[in-house]
Amino acid sequence: MWDFETDPEYQTELDWAAGFVTDEISPLRYVIDNPLNTADPIRQALIPPLQQTVREHGLWATHLGPELGGQGHGQVKLALLNEVLGGEPLAPIIFGCQAPDTGNAEILAHYGTEEHKRTYLGPLLNGEIFSCYSMTEPQGGSDPTEFTTTAVLDGHEWVINGEKWFSSNARYSAFLIVMCVTEPDNPTYQRQSMIIVPTDTPGIEIVRNVGLGDEQPDEGTHAYLRYNDVRVPRDNLLGGRGEGFLVAQTRLGGGRIHHAMRTVGMARQALQMMMERAVSRRTQGELLSKKQLVQEMVAESWLDLQQFRLLVLQTAWKIDKYHDYKRVRGDISAVKAAMPGVLNRIASRAMQVHGSLGLSNEMPFVEMLINGYHLGLADGPTEVHKTTLARSLLRDVKPADGLFPSTHLVAAREAARARYADVLATHQR
Ligand SMILES: Cc1cc2nc3c(=O)[nH]c(=O)nc-3n(C[C@H](O)[C@H](O)[C@H](O)COP(=O)(O)OP(=O)(O)OC[C@H]3O[C@@H](n4cnc5c(N)ncnc54)[C@H](O)[C@@H]3O)c2cc1C
Repeated sequence: MWDFETDPEYQTELDWAAGFVTDEISPLRYVIDNPLNTADPIRQALIPPLQQTVREHGLWATHLGPELGGQGHGQVKLALLNEVLGGEPLAPIIFGCQAPDTGNAEILAHYGTEEHKRTYLGPLLNGEIFSCYSMTEPQGGSDPTEFTTTAVLDGHEWVINGEKWFSSNARYSAFLIVMCVTEPDNPTYQRQSMIIVPTDTPGIEIVRNVGLGDEQPDEGTHAYLRYNDVRVPRDNLLGGRGEGFLVAQTRLGGGRIHHAMRTVGMARQALQMMMERAVSRRTQGELLSKKQLVQEMVAESWLDLQQFRLLVLQTAWKIDKYHDYKRVRGDISAVKAAMPGVLNRIASRAMQVHGSLGLSNEMPFVEMLINGYHLGLADGPTEVHKTTLARSLLRDVKPADGLFPSTHLVAAREAARARYADVLATHQR
């Protein structure tokens, strides 16, 4: 059965969320420097009360099951909510569904011990702390088999050494989930493990906080990290030894689709801005919206957005249905590969329609474009996801029996003529 409607009760919640984002959350970005910085008194005065309002409305971390303090709404409802939140950078934090914490929470929920859940998952889900996922290394991100950071057991402790690159939010995190080579002699995909490392553990060195685009050096949040003989308890292992890739898939599957849901919201915002400008700005005696080339930009953007949105929602629906990220890996890669292009195309057109104003720092389009490139890299580059998608599509395809394709018209015609030979013989034309 197909159903493209949101149930009216949930739509009421979404409408409330949309109003709340516009009225209460949007102004915050002009007064809060960094929403992750819990040492900032302005942040502390403004964000927690709004988080409390969201809790009272039953929309806090809704994708989580009730046992983890959520509503168990699943991914489709989260997708619809994230569309509302996606256009506003601070909104996911206020609704308890921001990256990379959602993915890290998924790992802890799946693989954490009771102690891990008490120490890390509980405060993370309550919005009291932030986390970091520390996987990519300076010598290579797309290919995790190249990673060299090691963790060696010494008595009851892991001793970690190595470097990680672009560990987002490390500077504001309470703990990191670090991918380390623990079983160097195992087959390639069973050599690494995931380990929880409290961020204040001695030996963790932030070489520098890398920023995006023209961010000032001290504003960056993507840490270049060095682990120098970092010691953590043996029990900080998440999953089994050598199961790092398995654990990563649990996290990255969710993380990728959540980014896509927010991208729908961001791209929709860009389209709305484009349309508003088109019906407001005049040139050569008429509105921009009367120019066919501008109309084409609007139409192409709507097509991009609508196709992508349906793909995201269908993938979210499959996740809810199968509860098996492995089974929907190809779908998630499709969403991941489509996402940067959709945002880039729509934001570029919106910027163009706004002329010089669009390129200026008085409109958010340049930020959106950088975000598009961010989405094409974080959680794996587009090229790798296209390859994953193609492999999953090709896996069960059988080769043609003979020299010619199974759909070869000559063979099809001959077969049809043989099948209907009697009819053709009776009704000779
Ligand atoms: C904003 C942002 C936030 C991030 N946050 C985190 C984080 O919190 N934690 C973390 O661990 N990492 C994080 N990353 C890192 C991200 O996961 C890596 O950037 C990504 O995996 C690509 O690795 P790389 O940057 O080393 O690129 P490389 O591996 O050097 O690849 C560069 C380019 O080579 C091409 N390429 C690579 N592999 C293939 C292939 N198989 N086929 C064809 N072409 C290919 C692609 O064009 C690719 O963009 C973040 C990245 C960004 C941009």
